[in-house]
Amino acid sequence: MEKLSNNIAENVKRIRWELDEAAVAAGRKPEEVQLMAVTKTQSATLVNLAIAAGIDLLGENRAQELMEKYEDYHKEHADIHFIGHLQTNKVKQVVGKVKMIESVGSLKLAREISKFSQKMDVTTEVLVQINIGDEDTKGGIAPSQAEELIRQMALLPNIQVQGLMAIPPIWNSSSENEGYFARMHEILVDIKGKKIDNVNMEVLSMGMSGDFAAAIRHGSTLVRLGSAIFGSRNYQ
Ligand SMILES: *Cc1c(COP(=O)(O)O)cnc(C)c1O
Repeated sequence: MEKLSNNIAENVKRIRWELDEAAVAAGRKPEEVQLMAVTKTQSATLVNLAIAAGIDLLGENRAQELMEKYEDYHKEHADIHFIGHLQTNKVKQVVGKVKMIESVGSLKLAREISKFSQKMDVTTEVLVQINIGDEDTKGGIAPSQAEELIRQMALLPNIQVQGLMAIPPIWNSSSENEGYFARMHEILVDIKGKKIDNVNMEVLSMGMSGDFAAAIRHGSTLVRLGSAIFGSRNYQ
């Protein structure tokens, strides 16, 4: 455990340094880029080691896993975002536990989040997930429909649109991903320019362990890292 603890602490330190370098190289301020630890398959004990090493934002993929680990997390030091595919019937398990739901790709899901947020008397921050690679296997709304969805979401009580999120296709050449990241930034700037009431377009969540430097070059404000922090995942 001590060895593992050192590894996680070293990883967090190294990654924060790499993030800062990438931001400065892109002419941006390091503090513009938030670092999230993606916790899927990792025990609450390991996640708490990451929090002890300075991580203050966790990303959760599955409602079930969040329920199992939630009580054990040292939440006084970290916010939680939901980043996975969320079925409408699981919304009630998540609302109230997370500060933000990053993976909202339909009005139906947004309505459900709004409904339970009202019930629990909380405001839930949300990002609109864009299916930037037009992939059948991924959630999110098509870029051409994003503005209309955001206009509808802006009218719902107890949710607050804060920006966009994307999971681009995995490619061997990072130049292909650069294109997706650049496109996401364009969409964000475009929608921000419409100045829609009750909508903030400040958060651009993109970039994972393999491609965060490229994402930061294209304006990412939140990178979601799993394996770079915890090592490779062991799915059982
Ligand atoms: C797993 C996951 C990540 C992190 O992936 P790594 O390659 O391990 O950094 C980021 N975002 C989402 C939505 C994920 O599901």
